[in-house]
Amino acid sequence: MDAFSYDRAQNPADALSRLRRVPRSLPIAGGTSLLDLMKLGIETPPHLVDVSQLLWSRIEERSPGTLHIGALVRNSELAQHPLLKARAPVVSEALLSGASPQIRNMATVGGNLLQRTRCPYFRDLQSPCNKRLLGSGCAARQGHSRESAILGGSETCIAVHPSDLAVALLVLDAVVHILPQDGASERTVPLSEFHLLPGKTPARETVLEPQDLISGVSVTLPTENSRSCYLKVTDRALFEFALASVAVCLEVKAGVIQRARLALGGVATKPWRALTAERALEQQKPSLEVFRAAAELALREAEPVRENAFKVELSKRCIVRALQQATDPAQAGGAPPTAGVAS
Ligand code: SF4
Repeated sequence: MDAFSYDRAQNPADALSRLRRVPRSLPIAGGTSLLDLMKLGIETPPHLVDVSQLLWSRIEERSPGTLHIGALVRNSELAQHPLLKARAPVVSEALLSGASPQIRNMATVGGNLLQRTRCPYFRDLQSPCNKRLLGSGCAARQGHSRESAILGGSETCIAVHPSDLAVALLVLDAVVHILPQDGASERTVPLSEFHLLPGKTPARETVLEPQDLISGVSVTLPTENSRSCYLKVTDRALFEFALASVAVCLEVKAGVIQRARLALGGVATKPWRALTAERALEQQKPSLEVFRAAAELALREAEPVRENAFKVELSKRCIVRALQQATDPAQAGGAPPTAGVAS
């Protein structure tokens, strides 16, 4: 690991000022992802500003139906929040489907959204990788691509966004609160617009400018007629990224889907909202036929590469099963699996 200096911020203005003081300095909170990349020599900040003491670790209903989650809330705390578990279990299910309890105890909500989009070659300094060094090539395009993206990829990069939480937050219409590095007032960005497609600049993964800080995330709590769930398929049972995952939030009244939110993980270069599939579900009575049609639409633009065509069918099956679970858990066979291979 390269040498770096470290200090601790007392408040948001102090954090921004300390970050500005040293070019290429980075904020650190839980450190579960950043320290890993620093040990590998992939991230080499000359200076770290510890933001873990800032007062961004509360979860509060700031207005009826809107929950504000501080950026420093630990993933383990969010997974056990009573209101979210009752009204939007998709969040808890997503969090508990990934990482270990030890990591969830350290990792923060803000850090979770800022995990690097990557494939195994990103962590191997001997392999070409446009995300690490633009113009060096993409090893995944010629090499191992089983886990790569089938949605949102570009010639330069086909790495998958790893977050389960971000996929779940998408179906709650989450909004990210950003404190700009120049100290201007806080701005908000819908989570669906927060992450960027790789395009020709795969190293730029979010709308954040260097040294901007995330202060929190707001979510809309589903109505009492709504049901949500998270379904994740992985190669092994624990501590594994998704091969495919689906978050669903449906509001059903009088036997008709009034409002649908559907998002995919493990298959796209950013947490992926399936808007056309959502529209196809709304004003329909839940049925296998309707669910299959929505799944077809969600994957209509899929572009598999050499080794991952299986993800197209896998994702469709996951969507159908998650929709069944959200509308008729008994028919779907009980609680959704959060790990293991879908049947
Ligand atoms: Fe790098 Fe992206 Fe290619 Fe992986 S898919 S090698 S992260 S450029």
